[in-house]
Amino acid sequence: AAKAAGRNRFRIFDEGLRGRLEMRRDSERDLSHALAENGLAVWFQPIFGEGGGRVAGLEALVRWNHPVHGWIPPGEIVAAAARAGLTESLLRFILEQVCGAMLALRAGGVADVRVAMNVSPREMAQVPVDEIVLERLRALGLPAALLEIEITEETALDIEAVQDKLAALARAGIRVALDDFGIGYSSLASLRQLRAGRVKIDRSLVTGLSASDDKRGLVQAVLGLGRALGLEVVAEGIETADDLAALRALGCPFLQGYHLGRPAPADQALRQALASRPDAA
Ligand code: C2E
Ligand code: MG
Ligand code: MG
Ligand code: MG
Repeated sequence: AAKAAGRNRFRIFDEGLRGRLEMRRDSERDLSHALAENGLAVWFQPIFGEGGGRVAGLEALVRWNHPVHGWIPPGEIVAAAARAGLTESLLRFILEQVCGAMLALRAGGVADVRVAMNVSPREMAQVPVDEIVLERLRALGLPAALLEIEITEETALDIEAVQDKLAALARAGIRVALDDFGIGYSSLASLRQLRAGRVKIDRSLVTGLSASDDKRGLVQAVLGLGRALGLEVVAEGIETADDLAALRALGCPFLQGYHLGRPAPADQALRQALASRPDAA
């Protein structure tokens, strides 16, 4: 009877919410299945240097093509992992794919392409990311200088909860990049506290830059900041030839976006990266 009452009470939810709740429950169960059965993948998007042409870095982006719900956005994958108690498993899975890419680049004779991995502040706070990452690099004989950790300041980031781990990673030689810079809560002080060696200008400031004096001014300001503080600056979300030309004219040192290269499965992205390199074996 209590169960029936509970079920009745459920009816006060609209069908949409109910569907979402069911999908949530499914997604937690299905995610652990996907992690175990190779249903998850990590794709890579190229980052180019000023000159274009050769791939200067790769950003790892998690992908999950759910058998029923289709492509699940990365933020939802990370959230589902948190609800299912799988945060560390997901992080370890992604890290293995990232290390695999680093090994493949090295095997191809390329020694200076960094691979960047996204880590949310929540993951950083909850998991011993520094210990896990350093242990894996050591075990695989990979130099820390080939890895980058991108951290997104999505909410009022609790800097204290993550700064010790970021400091440990930075001390070991891993570059810390502050993602989505220029929007939200990112501040000038947090750049230092987070040990950032790189900032990635948010797509919203980059898309349409060639037609907006405001955006151009903001991007120019970030480039000046980068020069003053010795930070590498990446513009992400470049979708058109006009925006690319405007960024080149401003002297933006690193460039990323659909116009230059879309995220692709690892084998394809690695093949492209190696083919772009005159130094590759
Ligand atoms: P992000 O780190 O800022 O990554 C850039 C996002 O913009 C990616 O979306 C990428 O596919 C997309 N993008 C790249 N170039 C363009 C462009 O020219 N135009 C447009 N419209 N989009 C572009 P994606 O893969 O859906 O990832 C979204 C966000 O989810 C990422 O933003 C990152 O914050 C997070 N994320 C992705 N993979 C992971 C992961 O493995 N772990 C964690 N914690 N977060 C991840
Ligand atoms: Mg990123
Ligand atoms: Mg970003
Ligand atoms: Mg983002």
